[in-house]
Amino acid sequence: MFEVSFIPAFKDNYIWLLTRGKRAFVVDPGDSAPVCQRLETDGLTLEGILITHHHADHQGGIAELKGRWQTEVYAPANESITGCTRPLSGGERIDVLGQMVEVMAVPGHTSGHIAYYAPGAIFCGDTLFGAGCGRLFEGTPEQMSASLDSIAALPGETRVYCAHEYTEMNLRFALAVEPENMALQARVANVAALRAAGLPSVPSLLAEEKATNPFLRCSEAAVIEAGLQHAAVNREKAEIFKAIRGWRNNF
Ligand code: ZN
Ligand code: FE
Repeated sequence: MFEVSFIPAFKDNYIWLLTRGKRAFVVDPGDSAPVCQRLETDGLTLEGILITHHHADHQGGIAELKGRWQTEVYAPANESITGCTRPLSGGERIDVLGQMVEVMAVPGHTSGHIAYYAPGAIFCGDTLFGAGCGRLFEGTPEQMSASLDSIAALPGETRVYCAHEYTEMNLRFALAVEPENMALQARVANVAALRAAGLPSVPSLLAEEKATNPFLRCSEAAVIEAGLQHAAVNREKAEIFKAIRGWRNNF
């Protein structure tokens, strides 16, 4: 299995760096400068770029990286991606530094959004965040709810490598949804301590997300109640999800 570390970019993006010896892949390089610097400092050869969706903060660095390294670019087939060499739509298996990685279609934030899963790790872009989820720019609540279901079905020990440091802000909202959730209260304290020490709050474990992330808890009584108080017209999971997501947009 490859090793994973992060390259900070912009205000709150994480570009994930996968390495095996001196061979490297990066996930969602929105900016090339910090990536080039890290690859050169560590003497790494870039072999592949994994893209989750088309937004500029995830693909803006591709052109420069391709100019410097002979690298494959794996990306959603139905989105406009600079220099894509391996179009993907979900269901494929790809080789990442000798590790088999499954491609999952997770539409919602964008219509072609994909995630990359290997046992123990998911690179989910802007689909699932620490204690939150991406905004619905292109997809429907039903699509996003189904995408989150497919992630939630993975093993609890899966690390969630999302693309932004949004956890603290998301936790404030999660606490408004479920003030009585004790796992959530504990996470608020843990994340506050990490951030105060200048450390990232991600990756989290999927089990922790399932216990504290309101968007993965739309079948829990407390979240259903909260959804019904915020415009949900019935108790169906996607309807509760839609109401909670709508509330979050104006929080
Ligand atoms: Zn995005
Ligand atoms: Fe983003």
